[in-house]
Amino acid sequence: MEIGFIGLGKMGFPMARRLIEAGHKLTVFDTQKAAMDRLVALGAKAGASPKDIADEVETVMASLPSLQASLDVATGKGGVIEGKRVKRFIDLSTVGSQMAVKIHDLLAKKNIAQIDSPVSGGVAGAEKGTLAVMVSGPRADFDAVKAALGVIGKVFFIGEKPGSGQTMKLANNFLSATAMVATCEAVVMGVKSGLDPAVMIDVINAGSGMSTASRDKFPRSVLPRSFDYGFATGLMVKDVRLAVEEMRSLGLSMEVAEAAGRLWETIIREQGAESDFTEAIKPIEKKAGVIVGGAKGSHAAK
Ligand code: NAD
Repeated sequence: MEIGFIGLGKMGFPMARRLIEAGHKLTVFDTQKAAMDRLVALGAKAGASPKDIADEVETVMASLPSLQASLDVATGKGGVIEGKRVKRFIDLSTVGSQMAVKIHDLLAKKNIAQIDSPVSGGVAGAEKGTLAVMVSGPRADFDAVKAALGVIGKVFFIGEKPGSGQTMKLANNFLSATAMVATCEAVVMGVKSGLDPAVMIDVINAGSGMSTASRDKFPRSVLPRSFDYGFATGLMVKDVRLAVEEMRSLGLSMEVAEAAGRLWETIIREQGAESDFTEAIKPIEKKAGVIVGGAKGSHAAK
C-alpha cells in the first residue's frame, strides 16, 4: 500500500526500510535531509512536508521524538491535518494518552482517524521486525493497516478508545525503566560487596530476577561499558514522566513509580538527555564508589 512515513530516526529508519522491503510504496519526510536521503536510496520518494505527504497518501505513519513534534506534524501548520487525501494518522511514537486524545480530537474535525500505535522492543526489534505494536483506534482503520503494521512487529489491538495504546505502552515502559534501575542497584550492591558483576548477571538470568535489563541491556551495553543500546535517556525519562502523569490523572499514587521517577530525574540531570539510557548505572556507581564491568573488571572508583 502507499504509506507516508515521517520521522526517520533510530526507530523510524529501520521500520520504514522494512516496509519498503515488504513492497509498500513509501513517501518519507524528516527535518534532517540526510535521514531522508538514506531511504530515498532504498527506493522511497522524498516528501516536502507532512502536508505534502498527506496530499498524496491515505495512510501516514510517524515516529517522532517528542509530544510537541507529534502534535506539530499531525495538526500544526503544514501538518498532516491540511492534507487532501489522508484518511488516517498512525502515531508510532510514545506520546502518552492525553496527547494522543488531543491529536485525535483535532484530527477528528477533519475526518482523519488517529491511530495510536506505540511500539516496544528497541532498535534491534525495529530492525528485525519483532516489535510489540500496541494499536488503538477505529476498528475499520485498524483492519486497513494491520498487515502493514505486521511488517514491523507483532500487532496487538488494545481497543477503540483513543489513547489506550499509549496507556499500554506506558505500563510496559514503566516496567522496563524500573527493571533497569533496579538491576543497576542490585549489581552495584553486589560489586560493592566484592561480587563479579558478570557472574551476577549470569545467575540473575538463570534465576527469578531476570528482566530485559539483565538479559539484554547489561550484557550488551553495561558490562562492556559501551553504553550504546540506542535509546536516549531523554526518551526514557519522557516515558517515565508520562507514566507517572497517567497514574496521577487516574487518581492513583504508586510508590514504585514515584521512586523510579525520582531516580530517573537524577540520571537525566547527571548524564544528560542525549546519553544512552544504559548510562543510568553511572550516578548509582558514583554514589556507591564502585565501577561495574569494563575491560579491567569491576573495581572501586578512584
Ligand atoms: P530519534 O530522535 O532517533 O528520531 C526522531 C526523528 O524524528 C529524527 O530523525 C528527527 O530528525 C525527526 N524529527 C524530529 N522532529 C521532526 C519534525 N517536526 N518533522 C519531521 N521529522 C522530525 O528518536 P527514536 O529513538 O527513533 O524514537 C522515536 C519514538 O519512538 C519516540 O517516541 C520514542 O519514545 C519511541 N521509541 C523509541 C525506542 C528506541 O529504542 N529508540 C523504542 C521504542 C519506542
